[in-house]
Amino acid sequence: MFNAMIVEKDDAGQTSASVQQIDLDRLPAGEVTVAVDYSTVNYKDGLCLGPGGGLVRNYPHIPGIDFAGTVEASDDARYKPGDKVVLTGWRVGEAHWGGYAQKARVKADWLVPLPEGLSTRDAMAVGTAGLTAMLAVMALEDHGIKAGPVLVTGASGGVGSVATAILSHLGYKVAAVTGRPEGADYLRDLGATEIIAREELAETVKRPLEGERWGGCVDAVGGAMLARVLGQMEYGASVAAVGLAGGAGLPATVIPFLLRGVNLLGIDSVMQPYDNRLRAWKRVASDLPMDKLQAMITPATLSDLPRLGADILQGQVRGRVVVDVN
Ligand code: NDP
Repeated sequence: MFNAMIVEKDDAGQTSASVQQIDLDRLPAGEVTVAVDYSTVNYKDGLCLGPGGGLVRNYPHIPGIDFAGTVEASDDARYKPGDKVVLTGWRVGEAHWGGYAQKARVKADWLVPLPEGLSTRDAMAVGTAGLTAMLAVMALEDHGIKAGPVLVTGASGGVGSVATAILSHLGYKVAAVTGRPEGADYLRDLGATEIIAREELAETVKRPLEGERWGGCVDAVGGAMLARVLGQMEYGASVAAVGLAGGAGLPATVIPFLLRGVNLLGIDSVMQPYDNRLRAWKRVASDLPMDKLQAMITPATLSDLPRLGADILQGQVRGRVVVDVN
């Protein structure tokens, strides 16, 4: 038996989440059984802890889109008992039982060996959000970061906090956009050199091009803010589009692409090929200062999850939550 956060759906379609004991036999099929140490809380987890947002197919369900732990049993030659592993993506925690449990069983292809220098707790302090931030920074580097500061939107969130810390560590000036001015000190401690109020970029303008301000951008917000930012990018600069915290629409014109050669780079962490995933985890280990990572962490347990799930859907979580499932 093991403890898990189970989400059930009643006949009226209402979901409820509670910590329950589950028999090991009920774990889904997969080559590798992992004793989970830590998981975390992402926006998708907030959805899956509640009505599901169309992500969960079957109930009862165990959410948790990422986890880190130790291999307990393996039918795959790449992993043996005792190996430390991390999982993000592949619709684990949505279509497949996830990391809000003391045990998980998954496909070997979905796992990544924990890189040297990271503990399982560190890995979940990074989590899907942090890995995605690293993928975004790598995409910007591949396309060339220009001279101006790099803008990070949704900066106090998980993606934004990690992106800010990594970019600052790499020597870039970071302009952090936040709707929480009271958190400016937190963002400066992570390495932000400039704090931009959310309202400043939320205001829509009729002009498709404004002054060239940003040498690159990691955007966790989307919507009208992304549209506005596109018109403020330096010539040839790139925006890595990661999230939709501010909306899925994009009320923009193509003018920044045509007249300034601006690039809009899509970032997906879920189906990211193994080699790039491994490269990104190694870069996290080398380019994300551990003291900055520790400063982002809010610790939690399985029973805290329903509250934290609601908080992240409201944009109320700062930095990264690390869930000790034991
Ligand atoms: P968080 O909730 O931790 O952070 C989002 C941040 O965006 C908030 O902290 C807030 O920052 C800001 N924000 C919230 N609501 C609004 C709003 N209405 N308008 C403008 N800004 C807002 O989420 P994550 O950092 O974990 O994820 C960020 C986004 O990235 C989400 O949309 C998520 O679904 C997506 N994502 C995508 C992935 C991919 O593979 N592409 C992987 C992981 C996440 P502040 O208070 O500082 O303004």
